[in-house]
Amino acid sequence: MTINFEFPVITPSPNPSLANCDVVIVGGGISGLTLACGLQSSGLRILVVEAQQQHQATERSRAYALSPMTSKIFRYLGLWSQIAPKISHFSRVLLSDADYPHRVEFCPKDLGEAAVYYCGEHGVLIAALQQRVATAANISCWYETQVVEVRYGAETAEVVLKNSQGQQRLQSKLVVAADGINSQIRLQAGIETNGWAYWQSCITAFVAPERSHQNIGYERFWSSGPFAILPLPDNRCQIVWIAPHAEAQAIVALPSDQFMTELQRRYGDQMGKLTLLSQPLVFPARLMQSCRYCQPRLVLLGDAAHCCHPVGGQGLNMGIRDAAALAQVLQTAQQHKQDPGSLAVLKRYDRWRRYENWVVLAFTDLLNRSFSNQWLPMVKLRRLVLRLIIYWSFPRRLLLRLITGLWGRRIDWTRVGAGSH
Ligand SMILES: Cc1cc2nc3c(=O)[nH]c(=O)nc-3n(C[C@H](O)[C@H](O)[C@H](O)COP(=O)(O)OP(=O)(O)OC[C@H]3O[C@@H](n4cnc5c(N)ncnc54)[C@H](O)[C@@H]3O)c2cc1C
Repeated sequence: MTINFEFPVITPSPNPSLANCDVVIVGGGISGLTLACGLQSSGLRILVVEAQQQHQATERSRAYALSPMTSKIFRYLGLWSQIAPKISHFSRVLLSDADYPHRVEFCPKDLGEAAVYYCGEHGVLIAALQQRVATAANISCWYETQVVEVRYGAETAEVVLKNSQGQQRLQSKLVVAADGINSQIRLQAGIETNGWAYWQSCITAFVAPERSHQNIGYERFWSSGPFAILPLPDNRCQIVWIAPHAEAQAIVALPSDQFMTELQRRYGDQMGKLTLLSQPLVFPARLMQSCRYCQPRLVLLGDAAHCCHPVGGQGLNMGIRDAAALAQVLQTAQQHKQDPGSLAVLKRYDRWRRYENWVVLAFTDLLNRSFSNQWLPMVKLRRLVLRLIIYWSFPRRLLLRLITGLWGRRIDWTRVGAGSH
């Protein structure tokens, strides 16, 4: 399957006027670029440094379940009109417990939103973000450039960059680590993390069902782990199949016809015969939360700060909310002429997002553990909770607000993005 995403070509030539800048964002993934877009009208001089080539950064073979809160953030960044036609809008999400016949149905009217969830491919999202930063006067983006070291001083941080032209140093008031789960910037700064590796891995693959997927998202919990079907445009779906490590490795090692037989068994036949569109990939599941999100001149964002079990599709949505919250905090500081790298400013973000992310991490962990548990009283309890959610709209709406990001501290939209919505 080949999908072409349009993106502007940006030469990674160092810009001398950036020898001093206000914010260096390490990592041009979705979290880092969303923050850059959120600061487009801040007046701050921003440099995004991405280790990969620009087109490589778009090529990840993954689709994300995107929450209504994420859609609001992209709307306020002025990106939604570009993204919305290329992604799917879930008309319903069905949640079930193995073969238990009662299933929870989430509908847009439960939320008062246009869709319960959305699903978009990595390339669609990142191409829109790359295009936006390429046209923002205060943002530069250097590709094929790696941040190799950061030295923290009282007034600025010295950032050491390496690319084909050699090494370069620049001074910045603030460094944002948006460099992913294995963040070197976090490690070098000595920020510790809490968390664990799960006993499970996650298999992803793109498939085309014979019948229409009708824009319905499914998440079914089996004792080995959850299995999700995310509808995509052009009647394609991404499957997210979680299983214990050895089982997951054995499944992806199967020849494709046997893989499809196993997949069809798990998927069911509600959409007819399936055709495999991509090589299945496998990722170990982890939970991680940084002990702090900031220190003077450094702040952590997205997977560099936290990561969670793939159940419920929360990881990127948390990173995007981090980016909107940090943009608000930095824009407010800028309006009050405060130093963006000072601890007093950065702690506002830490207090806000670390607490909210804890709640989501704990929720995904609870969901995965309770549905993997076959102890009879636990099975009875969770099925009772499921029936409560099915027949009583109050807990259903509460749960939906949690998983769709529509809870927690409100974002002040006048301080995010172009600030004129
Ligand atoms: C199987 C699976 C399914 C998932 N499904 C969902 C889902 O449905 N919904 C959801 O919300 N989340 C989902 N997630 C989580 C989501 O993929 C991550 O949370 C998200 O990709 C993190 O984005 P990020 O921008 O923080 O980090 P990354 O995407 O890891 O980006 C980091 C960037 O930093 C760059 N970089 C690293 N080091 C340096 C350096 N030193 N200098 C310069 N650049 C550097 C890298 O090249 C990279 O581009 C899923 C995860 C998995 C594993």
